[in-house]
Amino acid sequence: MVADNLKNVLSKLPPEVKLVAVSKFHPTEDILEAYNAGQRRFGENRPQEFASKVVELPGDIEWHFIGHLQTNKLKLVLPYASLVESVDSQRLLDAIEKWGSEHDKVIDVLLEFHLGAEDTKGGFTEEEIETILGGVEGPFSHICFRGLMGMATNTDDVSVVEADFARIEAFKKSLEDRYDLPDFTELSIGMSHDWPVAIRHGATIVRIGTAIFGPRVY
Ligand SMILES: *Cc1c(COP(=O)(O)O)cnc(C)c1O
Repeated sequence: MVADNLKNVLSKLPPEVKLVAVSKFHPTEDILEAYNAGQRRFGENRPQEFASKVVELPGDIEWHFIGHLQTNKLKLVLPYASLVESVDSQRLLDAIEKWGSEHDKVIDVLLEFHLGAEDTKGGFTEEEIETILGGVEGPFSHICFRGLMGMATNTDDVSVVEADFARIEAFKKSLEDRYDLPDFTELSIGMSHDWPVAIRHGATIVRIGTAIFGPRVY
């Protein structure tokens, strides 16, 4: 089931786009089924669940952290995450920088851009991202800025989703044009219900849960 869903998604995904299989709330057996079908990149959004799955599952998995990260939970996530996709506050950035400096490690992050209409969604404004990348804050010598992450408005209206993704795509391009950031290459947009739209707007990473693992039981 999981393996079939995975194959189905992969058959439609352009080969250069990276798939994060979002396994939150799903048991390790399901993750192993995807792993045995060849998937090596998984995403989790809760620090405790992330850390326990990391130690239980094979060591060659590339783990992405995609949820809200409180500064007192860094030790559960930063030793293992190859990419923290959901950095959404200055406070968190400062804490990651401090942790990186204490552990002599450079942490790869995406800046979460507040995209959707919902106020409940987190993320930076354009101005805040300009301030960070423009070097007004920092320096962040233990953080590597790899790109932007965003979540479109949760709606069936494709034109609204299109507009959200077009906005983050254009913003990323304008940042690339104006700042000298050779590693700032990733655009993580698109989930189970809207990833084909995200692909049309330059997604380099898609984060897909339900379409691979089925509905989550909370
Ligand atoms: C849960 C989650 C996803 C995956 O959502 P699906 O609709 O199940 O594909 C993607 N991104 C983030 C940040 C999430 O929390």
